Order: sequence, then structure tokens, then C-alpha cells
Amino acid sequence: MSKFVDDFMAELTAKNPGEPEFHQAAMEVAESLEPVFKKNPVYRKMKVLERIAEPERVIMFRVPWVDDKGEIQINRGYRVEMNSAIGPYKGGLRFHPTVYLGLLKFLAFEQVFKNSLTTLPMGGGKGGCNFDPKGKSDGEVMRFCQSFMTELCRHIGQFTDVPAGDIGVGGREIGFMFGQYKRIRNEFVGVLTGKGRNWGGSLIRPEATGYGAVYFAEEMLNTRDDTLDGKTCIVSGSGNVAQYATEKILDLGGKPVTWSDSAGVIFDPDGVDRDKLAFVLDLKNVKRGRISEYAKKYKGAKFIPADAKAKSNPLWDIKADAAFPCATQNEINAKDAANLLKNGVYVVSEGANMPTVPEGVNLFVDKEILYGPGKAANAGGVATSGLEMSQNSLRLSWTREEVDSRLHGIMKAIHKQCVDAAAEYDMVGNYVAGANIAGFLKVADSMLDQGIV
Ligand code: NAP
Repeated sequence: MSKFVDDFMAELTAKNPGEPEFHQAAMEVAESLEPVFKKNPVYRKMKVLERIAEPERVIMFRVPWVDDKGEIQINRGYRVEMNSAIGPYKGGLRFHPTVYLGLLKFLAFEQVFKNSLTTLPMGGGKGGCNFDPKGKSDGEVMRFCQSFMTELCRHIGQFTDVPAGDIGVGGREIGFMFGQYKRIRNEFVGVLTGKGRNWGGSLIRPEATGYGAVYFAEEMLNTRDDTLDGKTCIVSGSGNVAQYATEKILDLGGKPVTWSDSAGVIFDPDGVDRDKLAFVLDLKNVKRGRISEYAKKYKGAKFIPADAKAKSNPLWDIKADAAFPCATQNEINAKDAANLLKNGVYVVSEGANMPTVPEGVNLFVDKEILYGPGKAANAGGVATSGLEMSQNSLRLSWTREEVDSRLHGIMKAIHKQCVDAAAEYDMVGNYVAGANIAGFLKVADSMLDQGIV
């Protein structure tokens, strides 16, 4: 580690103790930026990275609500407004019991670079709550969302901060939050993205993150005159991103063979087809059931229950060509990364945010596989949120084809920025360095223009 990275990390960890995911995300970026700082010392002199790593604002608040038994529940809500150099804060809301400030700082930090890569004018933010929607009734979720938005609505706005969904926040939750915002603020504006089709939502927004991750994989493959057609693909998760990554893999001729949730893994050697995908969409989005049901319905598939003591995840130990981690952070440990390579995987496109631990990332980069890090590969979701904001401002809605073709164009542009930035700094084919450098430069130059604020 260089003296710069050492000093930067020492200060960051001292200021943000007990926040390992934030330290991990910051360290990866700092290491990638060393050649940039060597070439142009003004970024260091003006402490641009140090400023990016300090949120512009953090809001933390009480979320009280009453459950179906009449008991009072108290959760803790957050919004981290990380950086607004290139546009209003933008980034999802996560509702999951593991949510705490450090997790949201990591996600907001990543979001700054990701949003910059989209080519759209969006700053970075992230928020959420340690609320678990699993097992709650619709009435409980609504009361919780209303209470959460009652406080959050003071801090967000169409020109200030525009949240979207993330883990545990889908169409149902966005609907309840939008309704409460409109009721309190008495204005119908595009303050959230991922809205319903009838009230300002964009076509393709639900599909965008998963589709984008697969478009990104296809772009990486194209650099080697290859495509996804006929490739066996392993996908983790069974939520929003996993569902639509699976759909796009099928569109492009690939063969998805897995699903997962926190209770375990499904392996379907016959491949997931459109009927099986429709079953999962209904199971997860309507019935809100568990993925183990899949193996009861399709006899050729096997369910492997999660084992908290296991040293590796069986999902990443299956013979395949491409992997799409679409569940959560650090879901690929060093052993899993080695298993992926051992089983022939040579394309990894991250639908989730930071799903691979640093040792795994280093392994993928050293072995020169096609590895698309989350901040580039999953940027299609926020990019399409940006397109939803544009449509809301224009008071127009574009067709499915129009939005999909813009999304595809943006993923190609993100891919090109990564390739070009990596090449400029003599790291051809290193998408980690490419994404961090290209994402940084646009934000950093804007910050230099705007003075010390
Ligand atoms: P989602 O619809 O809530 O689905 C999350 C999936 O991951 C579920 O299958 C969930 O299983 C599983 N999962 C979550 N935490 C887990 C854990 N600790 N261990 C094992 N499995 C776990 O969320 P999503 O929107 O698809 O988001 C998935 C990932 O994509 C996240 O990293 C998110 O930050 C990233 N992402 C999402 C978007 C977007 O537009 N939605 C955009 C960019 C990036 P359970 O149901 O059992 O919890």
C-alpha cells in the first residue's frame, strides 16, 4: 500500500469506526486512483477524494409505527446525501434488518461514481431502514412506509434528492411512500423513481438493473468476439435484479441454471425457461414466498439450504461460463471466487453492489477474466431512474422500445468509458480501475469548478 492510501485509510477508519463495508469500498477506489493522482497532483492538493468520502449530509431519524397486534415498533431510518457535484442526490432506499449507517455510507459512496458513469446529471445518495418487510402484512408495510416518509419528506425533493428502490423496496413500498409524500407536501412531482406505470413510472425501470448487467456482460464478451449465446449462467438472488438478469440472459440465448435467497440455493440443471421465470416472478413479487418452493414445483431442480458455517457457497461451485451475483454485498468470498475460476467461469457481471470481497476481485483481475464491477455493471438501474426523471420533467412517457434502447446505449457508453480510462492508465481490460477512474474524474473536475464547498 502506498503512503497516500495508508494515510487516507487511516483517517477514514478513524473517522468512521466500525464501518467495514465503507472502508472496503473506499480502499478499492483509493488504490485505483493512485495513477490519476500521480499524473495530476491537483486532485490530491485539493483533497478531492477526502471530500468525496465525507457525506455532504447525513439524516438519521426515528420511525415509529404500530403493528397488526397493536404494538408500537420503533425503527431507525437514514438518508446519506453523499455528493451533489453533478446533480441532485440519487440512490436507492434499502429496508433490511442489517441496515446501519456504515452500510449506507458504502452504498452512497459507490453511487457517486456509478451515477457519474451513467452520463446523466445525478449526484450520489443512499438511504434506508433496519425494517424487515419479510413476513409483514401489507397494512404493516404501509404504516411503516408512511411513518418513514413523514420524516424523509422534509429532506428530499425533485431538485434536491430523488430516492428509488433497493433491497426490500420495490413497487409496493415506493407506492406507499409516494402517496404519503404527495399527501404531506401537496405536490405531484417525480420525487421518487420506480413509480407505478399509471402515476409517472417509466417502462423498463423494474427491468433495468438486471437487463443492464447482462448488456454489460455482452459488451465485455464482444471485446473478445464472443457473446452470451449458448453460455451457462449462474445467477444469485431471486429479487428484482436477479429476475430481470435472468430474463435478459434468456433473450440473448444464454442458459440460467440457479436462483437463491437467504434460505438457500436452487440449482436447475435443465435451465430456467420463460415459464419457470414467470413462476418466480409470481412467487416473489405477488405471493412473497421463498425460493425453496421452486424445487417443489420443478422436480429436476434441487434446493440446497443455506449453511451459515460453510466456508463457501454452493451456488458459486457449479460448472458455468458466466456469473451474475445479484443478491447482496460480499456474497462471493475468496474461496467462492477460486471455485468460479476452477469451474470455468470467465465472465462476472455484478448486478449487486460490491458482491465480491477484495481478495476475489484481485483474483479476477489477476486472471484477466471479464470482470465488470457493480458500479459499472449495475448502473443501468439508476440510469433508467434518470430517464424516469427526464420523462417526469417533460410530462411525457416514452415507449418500452425507446427506454430499452436508451438503456442499452448507456450501458455501451459506460463500458466504453471503463475501457478507455483503463487503457489511458496502462491497465487494459481492468474494468475496476476503469470504472473508478472514469467515475471519479467527472465528479472531481466538477468539484474543482465549484470551489471548496
Ligand atoms: P430484492 O428485490 O430485495 O432482492 C434481494 C435478493 O437478494 C433476495 O433474493 C434476497 O433474499 C437476497 N438477499 C438479500 N440479502 C441477502 C443476504 N444477506 N444473504 C443472502 N441473500 C440475500 O433486491 P434487489 O433490488 O434485487 O437488489 C439486489 C442487489 O442489487 C443489491 O446489492 C442492490 O444494492 C443491488 N442493486 C439494485 C438495484 C435496483 O434497481 N433494485 C440497482 C443497483 C444495484 P431474501 O428474500 O431471503 O432476503
